[in-house]
Amino acid sequence: MSLLNEGGADQDSLIAAQALAKLTLRRPWSMQRFVEQLSLQRDRPIEIIEGLGEFESMDFSGIWIPLPEKDLIRHRSGFTRIERDGIIAHELGHIILGHEVPPEERIQYFQRTASSIPAVVIKRLMDQQACLRSNFDLPLERQAEWFATLLMEAAAALSQPLFPDRDLNPRQRLMLERAAAIFGWSA
Ligand SMILES: [Zn+2]
Repeated sequence: MSLLNEGGADQDSLIAAQALAKLTLRRPWSMQRFVEQLSLQRDRPIEIIEGLGEFESMDFSGIWIPLPEKDLIRHRSGFTRIERDGIIAHELGHIILGHEVPPEERIQYFQRTASSIPAVVIKRLMDQQACLRSNFDLPLERQAEWFATLLMEAAAALSQPLFPDRDLNPRQRLMLERAAAIFGWSA
């Protein structure tokens, strides 16, 4: 199937959910820890940099730039932590889902993703196989955004206290903490 074809929304969310299900999400949640863990699992560094650098004037909030030695994610500054994590989660979606656009579709892909981008920048993006967080009509963008949504939902759940204090006496609490420790969680 062409990457530019319109796929079903159900299919996009399923692809994203299956990819996320293969990853290990740990307590206590932090995006930094998750990215470090992914780098180790993939045996390839993922580096997060604040600021879009040469792409600052462009109309997107995050960008994935696969380099020979690492995956680089740049995100625009000035966001809250949750917003920033959402942008990073989207770009991680592209990385995890292996969203490298075939050369013959790349120009079309970037033009459709962000039509305001000058040709010279498209040329540079093509050289770098970059993916942008922008046009959600494209299947790759929808899948990455689904991945981001599901990851951020899981992150929110992992950020909640493991046990609500009010319902437990100290003995019950200790027992549950020990059980949780077996799974590598900490409250
Ligand atoms: Zn994207």
